[in-house]
Amino acid sequence: AKENGRGKFCVFSPEMNQRVFEYLWLDTNLRKALDNQQLVIHYQPKVTWRGEVRSVEALVRWQSPERGLIAPTDFISYAEESGLIVPLGRWVMLDVIQQVAKWRKKGINLRVAVNISARQLSDQTIFSDLKQALTDLNFEYCPVDVELTESCLIENEDLALSVIQQFSRLGAQIHLDDFGTGYSSLSQLARFPIDAIKLDQSFVKEVYKHPVSQSLVRAIVAVAQALNLQVIAEGVENKKEDAFLIKNGVNERQGFLFAKPMPAASFERWYKRYQAR
Ligand code: C2E
Ligand code: CA
Ligand code: CA
Ligand code: CA
Repeated sequence: AKENGRGKFCVFSPEMNQRVFEYLWLDTNLRKALDNQQLVIHYQPKVTWRGEVRSVEALVRWQSPERGLIAPTDFISYAEESGLIVPLGRWVMLDVIQQVAKWRKKGINLRVAVNISARQLSDQTIFSDLKQALTDLNFEYCPVDVELTESCLIENEDLALSVIQQFSRLGAQIHLDDFGTGYSSLSQLARFPIDAIKLDQSFVKEVYKHPVSQSLVRAIVAVAQALNLQVIAEGVENKKEDAFLIKNGVNERQGFLFAKPMPAASFERWYKRYQAR
């Protein structure tokens, strides 16, 4: 079979060859990873303009025995193509809500934002799971918010709208991720009942040096304020960027300047230090 494989692959370029092998590796290993609890959630805080941490973003990673810690950029698109994103996304949702419940028991009250891919929009189970988990864990409110990308909304507008409505009914907030990178950002704000936009890190990067980025950030904040939406800036890496964002009305900031995404236990230690600062 190996000989065959080699013969078959030699018609591809080396990169394609590489991609095919990567796909096959993911195909054998990602499902196993899900079944064998190799996925872990890291949490990255968001800091309000007042300096409070009220919410974190959940970002999945894969602790592979073979390759070590794998970033979501290396397996989420495969999971989307293969459909594995559906069970993976359910796992994320349940793991995250259990973590929030554990924190709440310790007196740490946080909301958590979960990323949802287009492919997950047709998964009705995620609502019933979330609803059930809220009941089981005695939540009288929903501490989970959802982050949807612009492209996710465009792909199937009716479905996206119904998903947004269902999440909103449960008490989740809807955040529009990577805002400004899609091709119809503004029209989407009118079409979908959204609570916040996440200003993409491309606008944030060295914003203090770039007059065009500065104008765009100011304009986006003005639109958001006019529509009563919160603005969360992503990828804030230094104080100069942060100073500009705060000065121009961004509500929350997230980025390496404050903290990298961390496993729950490390985040908890960071949070306690931060509270005591
Ligand atoms: P995203 O939702 O746009 O997440 C932001 C990414 O920026 C994260 O990468 C985060 O670690 C990184 N980041 C945060 N602060 C900074 C900073 O100051 N500078 C820089 N350069 N980067 C920063 P990560 O964790 O590798 O996640 C990549 C993408 O994978 C996410 O992009 C999201 O689209 C997807 N993803 C992650 N977890 C999940 C999940 O549970 N479900 C789904 N469907 N997608 C997920
Ligand atoms: Ca996100
Ligand atoms: Ca983002
Ligand atoms: Ca992104």
